[in-house]
Amino acid sequence: MNDINPLSRDHGEIREAVRAACAPYDSAYWQRIERESAYPEEFVQALTTAGWLAALIPDEFGGGGLSLTEASIILEEINRSGANSGACHAQMYTMGTVLRHGSNEQKQNYLPRIAAGELRLQSFAVTEPVTGTDTTKTRTTAVRHGDRYVVNGQKVWISRVQHSDLMLLLARTTPLEQVVKKSLGLSVFLVDLRDAEARGLRVRPIDNMVNHETNELFFEDFEIPAESLIGEEGKGFRYILDGMNAERILIAAECIGDGFWFIDRARRYASERIVFDRPIGMNQGVQFPIARAYANVRAADLMRYEAARLFDAGQACGAEANMAKLLAADASWESANVCLQSHGGFGFAAEYDVERKFRETRLYQVAPISTNLILSYLGEHVLELPRSF
Ligand SMILES: Cc1cc2nc3c(=O)[nH]c(=O)nc-3n(C[C@H](O)[C@H](O)[C@H](O)COP(=O)(O)OP(=O)(O)OC[C@H]3O[C@@H](n4cnc5c(N)ncnc54)[C@H](O)[C@@H]3O)c2cc1C
Repeated sequence: MNDINPLSRDHGEIREAVRAACAPYDSAYWQRIERESAYPEEFVQALTTAGWLAALIPDEFGGGGLSLTEASIILEEINRSGANSGACHAQMYTMGTVLRHGSNEQKQNYLPRIAAGELRLQSFAVTEPVTGTDTTKTRTTAVRHGDRYVVNGQKVWISRVQHSDLMLLLARTTPLEQVVKKSLGLSVFLVDLRDAEARGLRVRPIDNMVNHETNELFFEDFEIPAESLIGEEGKGFRYILDGMNAERILIAAECIGDGFWFIDRARRYASERIVFDRPIGMNQGVQFPIARAYANVRAADLMRYEAARLFDAGQACGAEANMAKLLAADASWESANVCLQSHGGFGFAAEYDVERKFRETRLYQVAPISTNLILSYLGEHVLELPRSF
């Protein structure tokens, strides 16, 4: 069957190389990892060794020095192969905070070692159980005592902590009541996780719908060196926002990879499965939903490329990045649903991988940012509708 994505002619070399890196990790591999609730160590190591996860780290620090468009293609191809970038994608968008706001010393110290695969920067701790999406109300505090900060509080849904050496942490350094704007007084820290549990960080894994390593974190007088602070104290919220457009575009590309994977599986199955003496795909009741989902994936993909193009040109792309994430997450979810429906009962059988990918792609409606928050961004910041919160 032909390639259903005409844009996959672009950046052919990257696509081919990422496909080759993913090829050994086939259906049997992912089913075993799922059965064992394991982390795909070998898969992540292979991508690291090949340098794909360091794509956005500039050449001068030993990284790939690629554009965001190219980086997004890497994640698209990972998801299109049947894998899930969720095991390793955070490195791509978290390192931007160190690159843009870190000191020269921090950049020299960390980026070359991350690029070489010696250090993993896969964790990003923002969400809290009480405050949820209302990030400026972050309750975790970091109080300076001489050459250290003492951290107290709780985070939830913090992914890959057990498979990362470093974690970006957002904490309040000035109490909310003492700042002129609620977005001030928050700071970002680069926390060394390697001895963190021994130093009192409590990590409690969360059993969840997908095979995704994610945790609750409890900080009780947890000390970190003052030089862990990234940039200026109190400006952390701004630093996190600065990374959001890249994150949205990269996640949109993962959704696009999923979307094409689902459409491919659906059209193959619908062409091969014979019921009532003919392929089920001959029935337009089966065919049309696949065609509609395909059209929506293609349309979302155009928005993803437009957002990435603006980002790479250094132009404002908040609206496009958010729309790309919204449309791509919707399109991948529609494709997942259509694919599962086209498979009938077999859609529920683990051996077809459809139910696993179905669960995995559902997450994009909620994390890393929920659909409603994107709509709220578009309503308030793009359409200038009255502010809701
Ligand atoms: C598997 C998984 C992995 C994750 N990994 C990470 C991670 O590594 N690091 C990290 O920091 N976080 C992580 N998260 C957290 C994720 O980013 C949040 O779950 C997400 O941002 C939503 O926040 P919440 O769960 O607190 O929902 P809430 O803020 O409680 O919101 C609940 C629902 O209400 C809606 N809602 C809330 N307020 C409004 C409003 N004013 N208007 C309209 N709708 C509203 C939301 O859209 C959402 O659908 C992860 C989550 C999951 C499930």
